[in-house]
Amino acid sequence: IAAGAAMAWEIAAAEDRVVADVVLNKPLMDAYTYLVPENLRDEIAPGRRVRVPFGRGPRGGRSETGFVVAVRPVEEYANERGSKPERLKTIDRVLDEAPLVDAKMLELSRWIAEYYLCGWGQVLSSVVPAGVKRNAGTRELVFYRPTETGRAALDAGSLTKKQRAAMAAIIDAGEPVRADYVASKADCGVGVVTSLKHKGFAEQVRKRTDVTEFDDVAIEPWEELVATDEQQAALDTILAALRGQEYATFLLHGVTGSGKTEVYIRAIKEVVEYGRQAIVLVPEIALTPQTIRRFRQRFERVAVLHSHLSDAERSKHWRDIAAGRVEVVVGARSAIFAPCQHLGLVIIDEEHESTFKQDSVPRYHAREVAEKRCREAGVPLILGSATPTLESWHAAQEGRYRLLSLLRRVGKLPLPPVVTVDVRNDPQVRKGRAIGRQLSNAVKAAIEDGGQVILFLNLRGFSPAVWCRACGASLMCPDCDVSLTWHRDKGRAVCHSCAHEQTVPRACPGCGAHELKYVGVGTQKLEEEVKQVFPDATIARMDSDSMRKPGSHDEVLTRFRHSEIDILLGTQMIAKGLDFPNVTLVGVVDADTQLHQPDPRAGERTFQLIAQVAGRTGRSSRGGRVYVQSSNPAEPAIRRAAGHDYLGFVADELRDRWDMSYPPYRRLCRVILRGPDEAAVKRRANEMANALSAAAKSRNLPVQILGPAPCAVARLQKNWRFHFQLSAENPADVRSLWRTVEPEFPTGGDVDFVVDMDPLNM
Ligand code: ADP
Ligand code: ZN
Repeated sequence: IAAGAAMAWEIAAAEDRVVADVVLNKPLMDAYTYLVPENLRDEIAPGRRVRVPFGRGPRGGRSETGFVVAVRPVEEYANERGSKPERLKTIDRVLDEAPLVDAKMLELSRWIAEYYLCGWGQVLSSVVPAGVKRNAGTRELVFYRPTETGRAALDAGSLTKKQRAAMAAIIDAGEPVRADYVASKADCGVGVVTSLKHKGFAEQVRKRTDVTEFDDVAIEPWEELVATDEQQAALDTILAALRGQEYATFLLHGVTGSGKTEVYIRAIKEVVEYGRQAIVLVPEIALTPQTIRRFRQRFERVAVLHSHLSDAERSKHWRDIAAGRVEVVVGARSAIFAPCQHLGLVIIDEEHESTFKQDSVPRYHAREVAEKRCREAGVPLILGSATPTLESWHAAQEGRYRLLSLLRRVGKLPLPPVVTVDVRNDPQVRKGRAIGRQLSNAVKAAIEDGGQVILFLNLRGFSPAVWCRACGASLMCPDCDVSLTWHRDKGRAVCHSCAHEQTVPRACPGCGAHELKYVGVGTQKLEEEVKQVFPDATIARMDSDSMRKPGSHDEVLTRFRHSEIDILLGTQMIAKGLDFPNVTLVGVVDADTQLHQPDPRAGERTFQLIAQVAGRTGRSSRGGRVYVQSSNPAEPAIRRAAGHDYLGFVADELRDRWDMSYPPYRRLCRVILRGPDEAAVKRRANEMANALSAAAKSRNLPVQILGPAPCAVARLQKNWRFHFQLSAENPADVRSLWRTVEPEFPTGGDVDFVVDMDPLNM
């Protein structure tokens, strides 16, 4: 058999054939090589998808879809060490009419797979939207054009009157036309056009066309602003890089209200004038009509990519961007993959937001991908924030990023004074209220004065725990190591980590006592309290429970803008980006919610959240104040945030990170193992960690293994979880170590694992 196969191979090779390297949607870095049959030679191209046999047997066990990443002569493959050309399988079919990704995107996706330790094919299938793969929103339509016989027949006068009129209409159009167009021009039925086709006087062409239409949004009037000195200085530096067409990452550190968006817009103006495109990434939650309007007012062709788009809309935007019909792409994380052919600039606003990291495969961070993409394209990247991540700040200190600062608010407005309230001694809080005396007086005064109030609390639901007074245990989710939150509107206790909901039993499941009690305050209870204390105020609550309906988020913000709401309370949904001049008071109801989480970033998150939510006030000459309630007022993150002291905070925090060997000084890679059997998960975690330690030692790689240990949430959705970390100064060492050990531990089976490079959660 082997001899026969080898002979068949030689015949094939003699015909000067090509092979294609194909990556499948699997956690593998390597491509599989397939023989390209003669009839597919013209169609095959990198970036197109193909159906290929995969698995055992000459025809493969199953059929799979993959992306072609290279097409090359068969000899080249045959000369590779260890290649078995006679064993090559053949591609079944080529999908897609044109490549879905270009060479640059292939390269970028390969880099992502290497960096984030996942499969190249996994990255590609995730970055190309489903609608684009299905060609959603397009349809193949039939058009007609004249044949030579048809033209001759018209000249010879051998056609009927109706045919003559139809033929003339087809010829006059000068391009292939639809039958109904001909029918209306020539005042005949569409049957006449088909009869022309049957006689060979006209022929059909098929073309794929967009069927979705979008309303053009009218550009609203816009008053040109005079840039502040700080804005101008930042802009001049960015423009110099733009004009030099050089890669550079700028860290635009601008306090809240310093006018960062105006800097972005002016930089984009320059790019668009050169005929290039800009990508602006914002957190999904900031994709409000207000944000979008700021861009639509200033640019004609803006594509907004948000998660509510239909497949057809998304795929239409994708084609418009690829064809250069779009100047500015505004979108959440995945917009970094927008197929701009003439990229001129990338901007990431609120770069500190954790939503820029994807928490499923590929677990990429948009900032890292943007850096890579901009470097390859030779264009600048701007990262903007009032509270940059320690990673970015450190990069700026080291000179890898260029720091641009906007230290003052626009219009000489001061940052709002912040009062930290120690609630441990507050009489109202001791009675179980969420809002202490000082904050409550301040709310009263602000409303009487005609101002508006934002109250921030990062816990949704009514009460964050159902607690037994007798034994001290909380009601837990049966599937997760998470205590249940009481949702009074549903009359049920809910797990915020999985879909579990249940009624609350009369007796404690642990000790049987009838002493269960709802403890703590979530946004629903806060709403009730605020209604009681301020019965005349109009109140709106904004959290993921109250904002289920699409559009409700925008609706509430519009009412708030028009001062139809006095008090807006909610979770982090209201902490960010909002620019409402009439907000004269911000209350942080509980600054401690994040503080005690077992995570090295707990302090950073607390600082960011307080600084961001404080930034929602004092945005006009009406001024504004901030009250921060805490039981740990001396905690550095809270103290520094109250003093608007970002520089002081990062100085402290960087020192701590250095002492603890945490990022940004080390790079971490977290491996999480999970499965239904606790002992098996633990065993596998130990095996993997030991294998990695041994390999690090034998290969002399400076990588430390930290752990394994149970995860902070030790059980999630019925699965036990253990984790360990790989820590190194150079991420390349982590990759190299992981890739050598990985093949020993195939995925699947009863213990599964995920690999998270540069994890944001511990
Ligand atoms: P940031 O994003 O830095 O918090 P914004 O970009 O939201 O700040 O700007 C705050 C407000 O200041 C916005 O209402 C904006 O229109 C306004 N603004 C920005 N730059 C100027 C300027 N040069 N002159 C006047 N107003 C400005
Ligand atoms: Zn659960």
